[in-house]
Amino acid sequence: MDSLNKGSFIFSNQTSEQDFELMTRALDASISGVIITDNQQPDNPIIYCNAAFERITGYKRKEIIGHNCRFLQKEDRSQKEREILRNAVADGKSCVVEMRNYQKNGTLFWNELYMSPIKDAEGNVCYFIGVQNDVTRRKNIEQELKQHQDQMERKIEERTKSLRESEDYLASIVATVRESLVVLNPGFNVLSVNDHFIKTFKVSREETENKLLYELGNGQWDIPALKELLENILPTNNPVEEFEVEHDFPHIGKKLMLLNAHRIELEGQFKDRILIAIEDITDRREIERRKDDFLSIASHELKTPLTTIKGYVQVMNRLLPENASEKFKTVLQKTGIYITRLNNLISELLDVSRIQTGNIELHKEPFDFDKMVAEAVENIQSVTKTHTIILKGSTGITYVGDESHIVQVINNLLSNAIKYSPEEHQINVYLSRVSDFVKVSVTDTGMGISHEDQNKIFDRFFRVGEIQQRFPGMGIGLYICSEIIKNHGGTIWVESEKGQGSNFSFTLPLN
Ligand code: ADP
Repeated sequence: MDSLNKGSFIFSNQTSEQDFELMTRALDASISGVIITDNQQPDNPIIYCNAAFERITGYKRKEIIGHNCRFLQKEDRSQKEREILRNAVADGKSCVVEMRNYQKNGTLFWNELYMSPIKDAEGNVCYFIGVQNDVTRRKNIEQELKQHQDQMERKIEERTKSLRESEDYLASIVATVRESLVVLNPGFNVLSVNDHFIKTFKVSREETENKLLYELGNGQWDIPALKELLENILPTNNPVEEFEVEHDFPHIGKKLMLLNAHRIELEGQFKDRILIAIEDITDRREIERRKDDFLSIASHELKTPLTTIKGYVQVMNRLLPENASEKFKTVLQKTGIYITRLNNLISELLDVSRIQTGNIELHKEPFDFDKMVAEAVENIQSVTKTHTIILKGSTGITYVGDESHIVQVINNLLSNAIKYSPEEHQINVYLSRVSDFVKVSVTDTGMGISHEDQNKIFDRFFRVGEIQQRFPGMGIGLYICSEIIKNHGGTIWVESEKGQGSNFSFTLPLN
């Protein structure tokens, strides 16, 4: 009874005093703050508040009764919810808002406020009941969630942007690449091709994409050997490397294409796709052919006059007078040495061009393998003053092969070992039989070869960069060696550490 002035309230005439007391108690027991404003009085003062309202706001009843509710907003008056409340009061309607309110000590709390009008018999709004709940905790959680969400969205936006950038970046690489690129699905249908493909083959995207690879053009890729390799890519992960296709292509005529194909190593939507890179090597191959032709013609042309000069020097040697001066004899002898050197160089060049054109001839005869090696070593030793060659081991084998070619390999390995170990004095040659192979190793303790260069030294015309100036040579000796060994069904390899010498070995099968 003490918290509600029943005389001024609508319950006064209709409710018994006991019921009224009960209701007041019930309101005081509620955890929601409840207020009643009198809208018939100026500025709608609060005429009732329950205990929960005092607890939520921190104000005492005597500081509440008679005030307009706005004191709860302190200076924070620009909230749009106030407008909603004002309109609801003016229209006599109920409303729910969530707004920032402040306790007596200034602490902010979020107030979920439900306002409902109470009307008299004529329908005039007399009172408003306001039910309030402190929803600060929920609001904070909501705000935290929102912050997280905003953060996530920002992150997603950044990721999407960087993905888009890397996609553009990749697309620009694919567009710039000077190779034709084709992406296939596991059924060998073309999913996409790059601009270079379209330009090279003078075709449209429509006649290429979504078509079976083997049905493109006039069936240029429908080659059983290629098909087999491509079909193996996905199950075995083995790429197709350097596959040459020579074909009379529609629109562009006879061309030589080099094809490489790999499985695209991606999961998800790009899983199990095959990327084919196609390079037009027609012109390059033609230039190589012309270079080989030139090499072959030039070495033949050089060889003829050289043979004549060699003949003349032999004649001069024969006609050398008894009393010829020492100087004359030395000059003649040196001329002979240089002619032999020049002759060897030209022979090497001729060998290369013979290898290139597939015209190398093997004259296989049985010969004593150990004797052949010993003689080769002896020959090189007889003209080498700087190094000692130590031969160890034996095979006891009569080998059937082209003796002069194998001697050429040993000569080459020995002269390289001497040439590339100028500060050292010993070369070791090991000879052995390993299972059904003969094995020869030539070891020096010279400058060695980096791991990177070891893969290239058997290539035609390759020389390790830094030695170009210091040591004469054309970079074809090891190439010839590897071809000779290959022609005998054997293998040749090198083990070396830069600065610590090299060990060249080859094995030949005994058949
Ligand atoms: P060339 O000796 O005429 O350059 P080769 O084909 O015989 O040609 O050798 C190719 C290259 O391999 C050489 O230029 C040299 O860089 C390297 N090489 C060959 N043998 C040796 C060796 N024993 N030690 C270090 N480097 C070597």
